[in-house]
Amino acid sequence: MRRGLQIGKILGIPILLDPSWLFIFGLLTYAISSSFAERYPQWPNSQHWVVGLFTSALFFGSVLFHELSHSIVARHYKIRVVSITLFIFGGVARIGRDPGKAIQEFNIAIAGPIASFVLAGAFFGISLLFPSDQKLTALATYLAGTNLILGLFNLAPGFPLDGGRIFRAIVWAITKDFSKATRAAGTSGKLIAGALIAYGAWCGLHGNLTGGIWYGLIGFYLLGAANDSVQQLAIRETLRGLSAADVMSQEVPIISGGISLQDYSEEVLRTGRRYHLVVTDDRLVGLMNVQALHAVPRDEWEHNSVQSVMIPRDRILWASQDEPLQRLLERLFAADINQMPVVSGSPDDGAHVVGIVSRDAILRVIQARSELRHATPNK
Ligand SMILES: [Zn+2]
Repeated sequence: MRRGLQIGKILGIPILLDPSWLFIFGLLTYAISSSFAERYPQWPNSQHWVVGLFTSALFFGSVLFHELSHSIVARHYKIRVVSITLFIFGGVARIGRDPGKAIQEFNIAIAGPIASFVLAGAFFGISLLFPSDQKLTALATYLAGTNLILGLFNLAPGFPLDGGRIFRAIVWAITKDFSKATRAAGTSGKLIAGALIAYGAWCGLHGNLTGGIWYGLIGFYLLGAANDSVQQLAIRETLRGLSAADVMSQEVPIISGGISLQDYSEEVLRTGRRYHLVVTDDRLVGLMNVQALHAVPRDEWEHNSVQSVMIPRDRILWASQDEPLQRLLERLFAADINQMPVVSGSPDDGAHVVGIVSRDAILRVIQARSELRHATPNK
């Protein structure tokens, strides 16, 4: 799920802006400027907007700082940070895998709220240091308050909030049971989401429609995220103990790189096979699939060869036979690809392809296993 516009990199981490962020940035700038206009009617109107814009930008800078703090601690534990995305409900740092130990999860999670509290303190200090500068005081007071709220809200003990991760880490450390801890944090996350939705409804019924809608939306977002985290856990448990060799198809269809896309499409229609290894002069040169075919407009199929649109050999991601299926599935999703050839030996020297794993095959296993589990009594 790599959506959004990359605005740059900090410490090598891509910073992305989700389209929904533009909306909230505009709305927040408007809200801050309006409140400044009420409180400081003596300022010229343009000044309300300029200071409002600065405050809003610094607020999102604060959110970014919060996410960077999580990221730096994650990196300290050699966990890759995929990206940081700013979106309508704040920011999210995507990390490459779950932390391996409870203490790691605890430290990664708590870094964010601590960062927000430090910022709150710093902005509060600025507001005290320069009492004569109204603009600076207005900006700093606002940011001290919002960072404080940001830190506190994130400490609420339910997934996917930082407090939920802290809660999970504590339960995990005590029970030594990651699954149980995730379920507990997921359940309390749903309770918090439900409470927010109910509070939103209450606000809406008592005349504060905008606030009500806002709390409701955040509640529904948290509810979805809490459900996702529990679902992910179910997948993880379902795939436990399985490796690439278990689900790979040993039949690896091969196609020549020289044939036209038109001929390739006919091959797909005839055989129902949706991916092929591409071989030219007995050498493996790439991977071809239906997605690559569809990237080319149909009327150009006659004039383009498979070799010109395939995924070239050096960009293919490989799996080994003993790679855990859970990790393989994460890699497929992270790279947004559907198949991965499985090799024995190292891919660089003389490795040979022994099979191919597809997303579909993994999803079929998940489905079959969960169906069987539901059909088995007392389990
Ligand atoms: Zn956080």
